[in-house]
Amino acid sequence: MQQLLQSINAPEKTLDKLKSIGLNTIWDLVLHVPLRYEDLTKVYAIQDAAVGMQVQVEGEVASADLIQGKTRQLQVKISDSNQIITLVFFHFYPTYKTQFQIGKKIRAFGEIKRDFRGNKTIIHPKIRSVNETTGLPDSFTPIYSTTNGLTQNSLHKIIKPIINNCPIPELLSSEILTQYNLIKFADAINILHNLTAEQFKTNMHKTALKRLKFDELLVQQLILRNAYIHKHRGNSITLKPRATYTKALLDSLSFSLTKAQTKVLAEIYMDIAKPTQMNRLLQGDVGSGKTIIATLAMLVAVENGYQACIVAPTEILAEQHFIKTRNLLEAFGINVVWLSGSLKTKEKQEVYPQIKDNKAQIIIGTHAVLQKKVEFYNLALVVIDEQHRFGVEQRLSLQSKGINPHQLMMSATPIPRTLAMSYYADLDLSIIDELPPGRTPIKTLLINNKRRHEVIEFIRKGATTQQVYWVCPLIEESNTLELENAVNTFNELSEILSPLKIGLVHGRLKTTEKTEIMHKFQQNQIQILVATTVIEVGVDVPNASIMVIEHSERMGLSQLHQLRGRVGRGHVESQCILLYQNPLGEVAKARLKAIFENTDGFKIAYEDLLIRGPGEILGSRQSGLPLLRFANLEEDLDLLNDAKTVAIDLLKNNPNLAQTYTKLWFSGKEHFITA
Ligand code: ADP
Ligand code: MG
Repeated sequence: MQQLLQSINAPEKTLDKLKSIGLNTIWDLVLHVPLRYEDLTKVYAIQDAAVGMQVQVEGEVASADLIQGKTRQLQVKISDSNQIITLVFFHFYPTYKTQFQIGKKIRAFGEIKRDFRGNKTIIHPKIRSVNETTGLPDSFTPIYSTTNGLTQNSLHKIIKPIINNCPIPELLSSEILTQYNLIKFADAINILHNLTAEQFKTNMHKTALKRLKFDELLVQQLILRNAYIHKHRGNSITLKPRATYTKALLDSLSFSLTKAQTKVLAEIYMDIAKPTQMNRLLQGDVGSGKTIIATLAMLVAVENGYQACIVAPTEILAEQHFIKTRNLLEAFGINVVWLSGSLKTKEKQEVYPQIKDNKAQIIIGTHAVLQKKVEFYNLALVVIDEQHRFGVEQRLSLQSKGINPHQLMMSATPIPRTLAMSYYADLDLSIIDELPPGRTPIKTLLINNKRRHEVIEFIRKGATTQQVYWVCPLIEESNTLELENAVNTFNELSEILSPLKIGLVHGRLKTTEKTEIMHKFQQNQIQILVATTVIEVGVDVPNASIMVIEHSERMGLSQLHQLRGRVGRGHVESQCILLYQNPLGEVAKARLKAIFENTDGFKIAYEDLLIRGPGEILGSRQSGLPLLRFANLEEDLDLLNDAKTVAIDLLKNNPNLAQTYTKLWFSGKEHFITA
């Protein structure tokens, strides 16, 4: 089954075609189930073939005429004992005269339509000439997804013998099949490739598809569960909170932790006190206070004499963490150092030895921290902020740093439960499900860009006391998309709103320039910050309470939510003004409606899943696993739960079989961690 296609009897050219659509092994062909079926098992009398039906009719050719209208077409009329139907072809061979000889018997399959004269027609039917002895097929004709130069027929011819002759393995015991109401895998495959009219009537194709979905989810759970078990094998440092710094830090804060923060902190403490590696995903809406949790976790490492680091996806965010953390911890004599790609070589050369010789206890920076040349003295805990911005490889590269450091991943993009269970099943989950008290809710307004001048006037009044973010989606002129240019907006606002101070940040600026502008904004030397979406993650300026988003119709839902979360951090009521430009497409409408109606990040994430589907939310890079083909995370939660139970059981009782089976599903690629 894992065999490459070379073993089947097909020309090299066909094999190449198969490969081009991702079919590399025999097993890939087994799983290449039809997209749909055509029912050629029956012949309808023409009078019974109603308009709109996809059916097969049969009749004798009564005429075949070439019509020279706007486009050249061939019209063939066939009749059975009662009625006539017209078959229309726009492409045909010059030999059509023999093909459609008057009196010849023809079977035609296609959708029945009515032409402008009210006559029944089929446009470009599938046709076949027959005689009295020509039988009808027993099963439906499968229609596979394919590519140019690879016909349905040849695909069928390749797949059929495989299904009939190759032994298809069965992973599940008959007890499990009964318990979860599943049919045998081989039966499911057989049904799907050779569906009979009888099976179709009793919905057997659905039963069969259920088994495929189940195994797909099962394989996914096996891989993730295996990774989970492997990670928890026991070789990380045990870290227990001590009285040294933790209490002092908590006492120094101007607030006390929320109930939710206390709960997740306890979960983290439990994890890091064990000699097994922590792999925890901390989810909390924008502004829910994840940073202080990260700081407290890192403190435990320091209290125990170990190093900790925090990695953020952007310079601005990392630097903000650095400044905040240093302010909080320097009083305790803890050395917090900064490491980013933008440091000069000389500066880096100064930082590296501090990290290596344990002069630095807490290291904060961008992914530069993860590079090979950075050697730690005894790294025991790693925090990854906004983890969805990092790829799996980057996550895994941590493994080699330090002594299997505990990992705390943080994300403000809440993941719906099915997605989390499915793609993050190798992680434990903590959720901060409340915001700190005293936040005033954000008012969201949807305003047509035609009324832009009113928005600018509103800002003129507001910006005397409050600060404003003005977000533009793109920096370069783009005629095709007609997106506002951040520079233009900056000029426009500077002119109209003078003497208010206006700043501009965008992705093309040098890091130092960006940082300088952000500093000015933080210190209210700039009242209005025009920005591209570089400010999307993590920036914290409590006095900013007005957010304007241009071309909001072009932005993703979670992006809008993240942006909106930049305001609503102080005590005055914040406004988020979403400027949009007509015409709005269906998806844009759905997104704007969702962001207007919801403030809860988890609800928004769920809406996002419905609008975009899991593929776009995660991207396969995110998960490191292929996205699901058969199962559907909006519908198959129950199946997912069952698959998870079975996966845990299988790994306990028959790990080798589980491993072999997952390999089969991934064209022989090994996804199990075994070392
Ligand atoms: P996020 O979860 O989006 O990373 P932050 O950690 O940046 O949020 O926190 C947002 C703001 O809330 C910060 O200014 C932080 O100091 C503040 N904060 C955090 N926890 C609390 C709390 N329990 N009570 C009041 N303010 C808090
Ligand atoms: Mg944050």
